[in-house]
Amino acid sequence: MKILVANLGSTSLKWRLFDCSNNAERLLHKGGFERVTDYPKAIEDCLAALKAAGVITNESELAAVGFKTVIAKDVTGCVRLDERVLSAMAAYNGLAPAHNPPYITGIKLFAQRMPTVPLIGLFETAFYQFAPEAMTRYAVPAAWHAAGIRRWSFHGASHKFVAERSAELLGRHDVAERVRRLYLDGGKSSLNGAAPLRVISCHLGGSSSITGILNGAAIGSSMGMSPQSGLPQNNRVGDLDAEAIPYAVKTLGITIEEAQRQLSKEAGLKGLSGLSNDMREIAEAAAKGDAGAKLALDHFVSSARHWIGAFFLELNGADAIVFTAGIGENQADIRAAICANLEGLGIKLDLAKNAATRATETVISTPDSAVKILVVPTNEELVVARETKRLLEHSAH
Ligand code: ADP
Repeated sequence: MKILVANLGSTSLKWRLFDCSNNAERLLHKGGFERVTDYPKAIEDCLAALKAAGVITNESELAAVGFKTVIAKDVTGCVRLDERVLSAMAAYNGLAPAHNPPYITGIKLFAQRMPTVPLIGLFETAFYQFAPEAMTRYAVPAAWHAAGIRRWSFHGASHKFVAERSAELLGRHDVAERVRRLYLDGGKSSLNGAAPLRVISCHLGGSSSITGILNGAAIGSSMGMSPQSGLPQNNRVGDLDAEAIPYAVKTLGITIEEAQRQLSKEAGLKGLSGLSNDMREIAEAAAKGDAGAKLALDHFVSSARHWIGAFFLELNGADAIVFTAGIGENQADIRAAICANLEGLGIKLDLAKNAATRATETVISTPDSAVKILVVPTNEELVVARETKRLLEHSAH
């Protein structure tokens, strides 16, 4: 079963083709185009590239095209991208202005180009649909909530990957199976009295979020109504007081649009460091004594600890803390700073193992650490392919 996973940006198209036959999953091809001005041509060129690579001879061989869609009104999970779902996405264009419009446009073009191939979306919000309501609400008037102002949370594909893989690595195959069934049975499968599995998943990258996971399902996340909250992001602000924007508009004499632009383009690690939005450059400059870089680094680490602490309490401890994404997988010094001085909570990092680990699945805690610390490279596209396959198989029965 060949499943194409397409990542649509406003001027980019990236793809991976998986063979998900039987129980094996193989990446057959990956590629992409930047600075796309003619999207129909980019789709044509993508199909031509797959044919030239010999991985398909005709697009009818595609069992489906899967998309990592972001957010839609009253729709989440893994669903067929029909007119109703595309309208629900359009209704929330304002919540995801950089993502929803190009996805809607791109999906319509895929539908025109290959009308018989099912188009399926795995929403980034899907992993949070079973979180307790209290963790997803803001304390706003009811009309605000009804308008979509709530903690939706994102990076769902990545945190779901971590939920399944960490359960496997911890020998909890019952929980891994529960994660696999999550969107099929609505998180209703029970663990038959087995001990709970408590995981704190730290996706630290260009954008970062931390998610608490109980028995394979999210209980909450550091991200909120938009990816503009929680930890500081590369150029984006992270958590900010609700009064800050109207105050900035009045006192700095800028428009609300300019305030939004600055908070999404000039803020976060870039704004704090005054130097770069890239954690590698920030860490190097901090090591050389740059004060702005050190501040950005310290703020990032402190924010990560804040959210890990929040879920540690909510989960009544943790069996594992998992690091993933560009920073989490590769930057040992940042992992060490986040895990420093937590022996009192049973969190003990093996400094040598940590320092030696880059982007490989590894346990980096000491043998006597009550909480296991893991590095698990994420694979969001594979999650999209897996859920797409599950939906196809499920709807065939
Ligand atoms: P995105 O969230 O845009 O997908 P990534 O997950 O790749 O991005 O994360 C980007 C961040 O991770 C940057 O701050 C970068 O410095 C850091 N990063 C990515 N790859 C590496 C690497 N090989 N070594 C060190 N840092 C890395």
